[in-house]
Formats: sequence, C-alpha cells, structure tokens
Amino acid sequence: MTSRPKAIYLDANATTQVLPQAAQAAMLAMQDMYGNPSSSHITGLQAKALMEDTRKAAKQCLGSGNGRLVFTSGATEGIQTAILSALVAARNQGGAAGGLLLYGATEHKAVPESLKHWNQVLGLNAEVMAIPVDKEGRLDLAFIADKAADALMICTMAVNNETGVFQDLKALEHAIRSHNPGVFWMVDCVQALGKIDLDLAHTSIDYAPFSGHKLYAPKGIGMLYIRESAPFTPFIAGGGQEGGLRSGTENLPAMAALKVVLDMLNGKGDTQFADKATLSAYRLRLIAALEQAFGRIVLNHGLENSVPTTLNFAVPGFSSKEIMDLFDAANIRVSSGSACSSKVTGSFVLDAMGLPRWQSESAIRLSFGPAMTEAQLVEACAAIKAAAGALQHSCLLSAESSDSNLTKAPLQGLLQLKSDGACCWLYVEPGSRATVIVDPLPELMDRLLQIVNCQQLPVVAVLDTHGHGDHQSCRTALCQALGLEFDCDHLGWPQDKGASLPLGDASLIRLDTPGHTADSRAYLLKDGGGAQQFAFVGDTVLPGSLGRSNFACSDTGLLYDSLKQLHSTLGETSVLLSSHDYHNDFFTNFAAEIQQNPLLAGLLAGRISREEFILRKDNLDSRLEDQVGEVLMCGAYDQCQQAQSVVEYRGQNLDDLLARDPEALLLDIREPHEYQLSHRQERCINVPLSRLAGFVAENAADYDRMLILICRSGSRSLVAARALKRLGYHNVAHVNGGYALG
Ligand code: PLP
Repeated sequence: MTSRPKAIYLDANATTQVLPQAAQAAMLAMQDMYGNPSSSHITGLQAKALMEDTRKAAKQCLGSGNGRLVFTSGATEGIQTAILSALVAARNQGGAAGGLLLYGATEHKAVPESLKHWNQVLGLNAEVMAIPVDKEGRLDLAFIADKAADALMICTMAVNNETGVFQDLKALEHAIRSHNPGVFWMVDCVQALGKIDLDLAHTSIDYAPFSGHKLYAPKGIGMLYIRESAPFTPFIAGGGQEGGLRSGTENLPAMAALKVVLDMLNGKGDTQFADKATLSAYRLRLIAALEQAFGRIVLNHGLENSVPTTLNFAVPGFSSKEIMDLFDAANIRVSSGSACSSKVTGSFVLDAMGLPRWQSESAIRLSFGPAMTEAQLVEACAAIKAAAGALQHSCLLSAESSDSNLTKAPLQGLLQLKSDGACCWLYVEPGSRATVIVDPLPELMDRLLQIVNCQQLPVVAVLDTHGHGDHQSCRTALCQALGLEFDCDHLGWPQDKGASLPLGDASLIRLDTPGHTADSRAYLLKDGGGAQQFAFVGDTVLPGSLGRSNFACSDTGLLYDSLKQLHSTLGETSVLLSSHDYHNDFFTNFAAEIQQNPLLAGLLAGRISREEFILRKDNLDSRLEDQVGEVLMCGAYDQCQQAQSVVEYRGQNLDDLLARDPEALLLDIREPHEYQLSHRQERCINVPLSRLAGFVAENAADYDRMLILICRSGSRSLVAARALKRLGYHNVAHVNGGYALG
C-alpha cells in the first residue's frame, strides 16, 4: 500500500488524543506511583496524595467550593449517579408519581436514556419530557418556567456536543429556581470543561458530570460535582472508596494524567492552552477554508452562542456520509450528526432546533481542543482544499468555487445515483459520449446538472421508464435547466426515432412493458455489434421483487406478458437496472431473481398460468401496505431475502491470497475522489460502487473470477460483495475493516 499520512484530527468532541505530558504522567503513575490509595504504607500514601492533588486541582478548576467532587469512570457514570441520587431522593420525599423529569431536547442520549431507565427501575411513574429548544439551540425558558413547579429533576447541558451551543446558565437558573427552588438540577458539563469558565459553588446546580477523555486525559476517568446540599446515593457500593460515595480501587494513572490537564487549565502547567480569542480566530479560518474550497457552506448554529472549538456545517448537495467518506480519504477526521447508514437519517439535535431536513442530513461536525496549534490549523486548511479539489476532479463540485487547476476525470459508461430507495441512471456511450439520463429524481437534479455541465456531456435523451407513483420526475425541469428541447413523448422518448435511439455506435431500444403502470417501458442497450449490454427496466423488475400492479393504472395480466417478453428478449444474465433499490442490491438479472422469487420463477418456467399469477400477485400486493412504513414502495416482496455470506480477508491473509492468485482482481469500490485522495492497495483497480453496474455489464460472463472488494471501512465492500454474489459471482470476497484496518 502507499503510505498513510498522519491524520488531521478534528473530532475532539468525540474524544481527544492524550496530551504527551499527560500520557507521561500516567506512565509514571503506573510504573512508580502504582500504590493503592487505600493502603497505609508509603507507596499507598503517595498514591493517595496524587489522587487528592488531582481532586484539589479539579475543585479549583471548577470552583466547586464546599461541594463534593467524586471521581468516576466517565460522564455516563456521573450522569447515572446524579440521576439515581435525585430520583431516590424524590421517591423518598413521596409524591414522585405524576411528576416530571425534564431534559433538554438536545441533551446527549445518556441523559434521557438514564432518566427513563431509573424512572422505570425505581418504579417512579414520572413523566419524562423534553424541553424544546429554539432555532439557535437555546432552551425554551418559558417552557421551563411553566413546567418547573411539577418537576422532580431538570437535566440540561452547559455546551452541546454536536453544535457547541452553550446555554445562558444564569437565565436558566432564574427560570428554574424562581418556580421551583428545591428541584434537583443537573448540568452536563462534559463539553464545557476547558471551553467556558465554571464557578459551580456560586450556582445552584446540584450535579455536574465531567469526562476526562474529552480534554486530553485518557478514557476511563470522569468527575462528578455534587452540591453540598444535594442528596447522594452511591451508584457503586463496595470497599467504601471516595468516602463511601463511589467504591472500587481508583484509576490512579488516569487521575495523574487528568491532573496535568487540570493544572494547565489552572494556569500552572509548563505549557499553555490557546486562549479563546485564538481559538475563535482558528474557527473563522476553518470556515474561510471551507467556503473557499466548497464555494458555499451553511452553518448549523450561530457563532456567537457556541464555543469556538466546534463548527457544525453542511455542504449543499452533499450528504454527511459523502463528506465523511471524502474527508476520511483526505485524512481529515470529523464526525457527522447523522448515523451513516444507507437509509439517510438526520441529527436529532439539529432536528430539535427545527433546521431544514437537508441540513440535518448533511451535517458535519468539526471540533478541536485548546491544544490546537497554528501548524495544525494550516495543515487542516490545506487538507480541506485538497478534499474539495478531488470533488472537482470528479466533477461533483463546481471548479469556480476554488482556485484549483485540477483536470477533470472523464466520465464514461454507467453511473448509478441514488436517493433513499430510488435510483437514477446516467449512461455515457464511451465512443461518442452520447448521454442518456433515465428516471431523474428531483433530489439529484443539482448533481445531474453539475455532472453534465462539468463533463460537457452531449445529452441525447432524458427518459422516464414510467409515470412514477411514489415520486416526481424532474425530467422536464432538467431539460429546461440544460437548455435542451426534445420533440418527445411524455416519458421523453424522441418522436422521430421509432423504437431505436442511436448512441454513437450503440443504440437504445424501446420496449413497452405495461403492467406496473400502463405506460411502463424498458430501454435496452445494444452495442455496435448488436449484443445486449444491459436494460433499464423501471419498476417492472426490482432487485428482490416485482413492481406492484395494484395502482389504478396497473394491469397484472399485462405485467405477466411483459415479464415473459422481457425475459425472452434479455435472457438470464443481462444486467437489469431498476428504478428502485430498497435493500442495497444495486442491480439484478433474471437468473438472480429466479433464484429468489418463486412467483417469477414459476411464471418464466411456464408453471404458473396467467390467471394464477394474477391471483397470487394481487394477493401479494394487497400486503404491501404492511411492508411500507411511510414510504410508498413500488414492489412487493414474496419472501424475506437471505443475506449472502461473503468470505472476508484482512492483512496477511489478503497478501497471501493476492500472491497465490495473480488473476484475482482487487476492486477498490470507493468513489473516484476518495480513490484519488488516499492511500491504496497497489494491485487494485477503481470500480466505484456507483459504477459497479457498468463493470458487471462488461464482465457478465466472468462469474468464476476471484473478485476482492475493498473500501474505506468494509461496510460498502460487504454490501457490494453480497450484491455480486447474488448475481452469481461465486468467488467474491471483501476486505473486512477496509483501508481503516488494513
Ligand atoms: N455528555 C456529553 C455532552 C457528551 O458529549 C458525552 C460524550 O460524548 C457524554 C455525556 C458521555 O461521556 P462519556 O464518554 O465520558 O461517558
């Protein structure tokens, strides 16, 4: 593999590297100060002194006055302890049933989940209720004022982990205490440590959890501040350590490391953290670099009410997953608000703030700590520029947005674009570059425009395979935006071309396939020699199912006829490109469908009559509503699909395999911009997942060839390998853990 450069780590809100001097202190504690603080001999006394020095430093840093400070394993334990303590006290005071447990809608999941957990375990029967936030992420103080009187506990956070938004703790305190002076109040201060000044004893905060690993100390150490008057129930009972508040032998090495960080915060360290003005300037420079690189970014929070070390933004037209993959390839580690699954999900924090859905689905969080240096910042800005340059190179980003002089990688063959479960296809005939776009989706309109304009593709047709019931086509709008005027029918087929549209040497053949809708049709691509390459089949055949035929414009009998005709025209191994891909199968062929769909298999083998097909298909479609949830699904599943098992390789095993089998093809299925940016296996060829259909169409007969798929983390390569196996490539494997673990 080409060598891997050092990562540019911009994910400090998730966790931080341990500062070298803190790591050194931990090592010293392990090697020299290894005593048990409960032992009465000298080694134990030394350990205890170190522990108490750490506590002293923490108390000074947090301004905890007469409050107690207990060491924990981290903030999640601190949160449990605080909530358990408050709820036990609330129960003992009586009247807990029907009371409210309030928490901020943007709280870390540890808070609402712990509230629900202890509410249930203790049998309180209180109502767990979210406090809304406004567009800026600020808690609704009027809501708090209204509900506080009935609250048993109120949980808020000082600084949000996704947006860096801080709360006005004074105003919050006023809203709470003027309506309920006695309610237990926890403030999650995890992201506040080292970012905002805390003076806990001068507030009426009852509990404040902290976590060491968010600020350069190791994982496994945290702190919980408990107000002098606040009730306490130990979460861990045992040997009576921590004055009986938290049992278990203390994590001294981690405390030693934490002390180094706390000393720095107290201004006593040998080195200094950057001050707020410097950090604010760093953030502004990162914003400028992002704007210069991407043309436009949208900030998901205000800069005035967020700590300077967090930046949450979206790049219009790109999902979180796409930017995450891009940045990872460019060696920049950031985090996304949304879970990176194939089904797009947003950030619950941004959703609670009422931001538009696309911002939530595209959210990227970039965070750093006060140990950030000027040199690291410069490196980060350069890497951001390089990342955007790679997007321009593959024509996914307009080149005007930066001064990059990168050349463009020419696009040819098939490109699959997806939005949720729907697919749109773009085909560029390699010789002439004549281009057709099939089933354009409004969500992908900007991307299609960008690709066509950047690649200067001569678009000869924009087609729909049918009038879509579940979504709008953007065919007309796209043609308008491209300045194209075709004399065509309502699905975009040129009026003067009969059933065959020339694409350079190749041709696209129109085949009417009514059934799913009355106007359904397939488009079959034949090469210059008349050989069948692949076919756009709309919803007539979907990977794993057949198009539904219970719309008003459907006809199940005609679907039966169309399937027979398609099969006899295309044969079993032609690649079928559908308008939907609900289960990451990407594309299919009749051979794969016959294996998994008894209804289709029976129809094609002549075992199922037209009448019986109508009966069984209508019955299947009538159950569709149960499968769909909120999406209108276009195909009914006959049975649950079994995920294909795939052989996995890694490290030495992969090297051995490649040495053993010189014919084995290693396919790097990352997108071209990722491939261009990052280190890679020397023997691999780049077959991006979005272009896998073209690779299969060209290698349809080569089912015995050993194919090994690799990607960033091993998740795309696994789904793609399963899809290939499903299609009959029985020697397919993938690299478990991808380049991340390679
Ligand atoms: N609270 C906030 C705001 C956090 O950001 C985190 C960690 O992401 C936690 C709580 C949980 O902290 P820990 O990992 O120490 O359990």
